[in-house]
Amino acid sequence: MRRGRRSPMRRRHPMGAAPQHNRAHRALQRAHRLMENSDYVNAADIFERLARGAHDRGMLRQAPRLYLQAGRAHLLAGDSDRGADLLRHGLNILAGAKRWPQLHQAGQRLVDELVQWGHADLAAQFDGWLQGILPEKPEDYQHIGTPTRLHQLPLHCPSCGGPIRSDDVEWLDATTAECPYCGSGVR
Ligand SMILES: [Zn+2]
Repeated sequence: MRRGRRSPMRRRHPMGAAPQHNRAHRALQRAHRLMENSDYVNAADIFERLARGAHDRGMLRQAPRLYLQAGRAHLLAGDSDRGADLLRHGLNILAGAKRWPQLHQAGQRLVDELVQWGHADLAAQFDGWLQGILPEKPEDYQHIGTPTRLHQLPLHCPSCGGPIRSDDVEWLDATTAECPYCGSGVR
């Protein structure tokens, strides 16, 4: 008697991810959690490690964001030199890849945050650097706006827990944005 052909293999990883990827993913979830709990010292270390790992593996969409989070965390932990270095590193990757809209958005947000956190000097430095490196014509760096969709995204990525700002993401289609930290679709 012939039995129906059936694959005995079932997916072990519901996310379809390899184990080493899962390890990085768990570390990312932990870093976001630490950041939310204001444990900036530990968050900084993990974000920095993840940023270097992503950079080494050529994950140039995620690496800049991870460097920026690492820089923010160091800064909030009180190490402004280390923080500024990593922030520069993240922005430099975006500039090197000529991802002008992303650089403009991330840079402006950073300048605002630096002012709020009492680092007016650093804010002015970054602002000057941005003005010097961005293309002259605003249409070359202004984001292709998606204002009608702003309300549709969750506040946190369901996959890695990272903070999602609907004015600071890349859209994959009409309703789905890309998580800047882990790359999964958020909708
Ligand atoms: Zn994510």
